[in-house]
Amino acid sequence: MLTPLALPATAFIDPQGNNRAAIAEVVAHVAQCIVTHLSGAAQHPPVPEVTAVPAIAIPDLPTPDRDLLNTLDAYLATAMNPANPGYLGHMDPMPTTFSILGDWVVSALNNNMLSVEMSPIFSRLEPLVMGEIARLFGLGDRAGGVLVSGGSLANLQAIAVARNAKLDTLTHGLAPLPRSPVIFASAVAHTSIKKAAMLLGLGTAGVIEIPTQANSQMNADALRAAIATSLANGQQPFAVVATAGTTVTGSIDPLPEIAAIAQEFDLWFHVDAAYGGALMFSDTHRDRLRGIEQADSVTFNPQKWLYVTKTCASVLFRDMAVLHDHFRIAAPYMNREADWHNLGEFTVQGTRHPDILKLWLSLQHLGKQGCAHLIDASFDLTETFVAAVRQRPYLTLASEPAMNLVCFRGCPSWLPAAQWDGWNADLQATLCRQGSFFLSLPHYRQHNWLKAVLLNPFTTIAHIEALFQAIDAFAHATKP
Ligand SMILES: *Cc1c(COP(=O)(O)O)cnc(C)c1O
Repeated sequence: MLTPLALPATAFIDPQGNNRAAIAEVVAHVAQCIVTHLSGAAQHPPVPEVTAVPAIAIPDLPTPDRDLLNTLDAYLATAMNPANPGYLGHMDPMPTTFSILGDWVVSALNNNMLSVEMSPIFSRLEPLVMGEIARLFGLGDRAGGVLVSGGSLANLQAIAVARNAKLDTLTHGLAPLPRSPVIFASAVAHTSIKKAAMLLGLGTAGVIEIPTQANSQMNADALRAAIATSLANGQQPFAVVATAGTTVTGSIDPLPEIAAIAQEFDLWFHVDAAYGGALMFSDTHRDRLRGIEQADSVTFNPQKWLYVTKTCASVLFRDMAVLHDHFRIAAPYMNREADWHNLGEFTVQGTRHPDILKLWLSLQHLGKQGCAHLIDASFDLTETFVAAVRQRPYLTLASEPAMNLVCFRGCPSWLPAAQWDGWNADLQATLCRQGSFFLSLPHYRQHNWLKAVLLNPFTTIAHIEALFQAIDAFAHATKP
């Protein structure tokens, strides 16, 4: 057995307070590190280059606190830096202050969302806050939701509930079904839909891909035709997944039309609004999600456009009774509370981090108006960005932006089209190397594109002008 002497003095926080001063010192040091790093984030590149990985061998003897804290500094310096105003590449925001603090507090408390007795306050907070958010989405009085670790798990759980509810598969699975179950999603739906199908026994071929129109939105007529074909082929359609905020172009599928088709064919209607769901917080832009209120389930990630630290993702249900009837596995080893549920019985995860505290703290701190302001401001910036693309004949938009995401590429007329993919990749790498801007390089419609997500509240029009000057300079240098 370990004697206490074999442990560093700060290995644990002594509950009798004996090492309080030493603990206060390391905590203050880390807090200082975070404040120094994040308040200087504009001076660090958006995506620093990692030149060396620290030694990883597990030492025989304890490492002194000082040495460890120095290693931490090195990690901070080479981590992805979404707080830099030139970080534009992905749907990963800088986090709100109170979501950082909430995460820290929750880690310190080490509660568990598995059951009420393991997280007495957070297991009460989560259903209340999720009910409020579900009502904001217009899902009605019976609606609610659960948090899970990421949008992929949210989609998995939604499609599992859809399958069990529509095909009665909770007990006996797929084997007794006379026909192969299938779902429909657009060709640009998130990869997690196919992962879910693979895990749920449908196979990836169980996701029937619906073609998109020019703006990367699901073609509703093609959906109707695909359902008819599937029925004629003897398959068993049970759900349609619409996307509100596609990963590459931020497109929103025509939700009202898809809702009507789902209803006509008695299909579960799931909306993957992992990214776009945040629009519900803006009075100005909420209408872009019209039709979402008809969903049976919705995936929504506050870790994206609501600026909450990762992970923070949710799956909402129009009627929480479906979770009881078609998903719940009771855990008899847990105490039961009359009015509050052991959430481990209702989510795909068991032990789970109480992500609700940081979400709740962040929403309280910003208020609805604060959230709306962030969303509305990013639309203004998007307009500037789109105008800069349109002003340049050598740049082309992939689609009309429906949110704060711009996908575009260079088609420089002075070079043969066969060189354009390489040109765009070089431009992306050059910007990265220069250290001021990070755009991502999605592969889309068989080509390389550039993607900007205007998410950082500290990105200004001046940054966008500087980015386009850098793009112009790159373009100019490639002219014969
Ligand atoms: C981000 C995203 C997901 C996946 O969420 P993770 O948290 O990365 O698992 C799913 N669907 C859409 C539309 C997304 O934008």
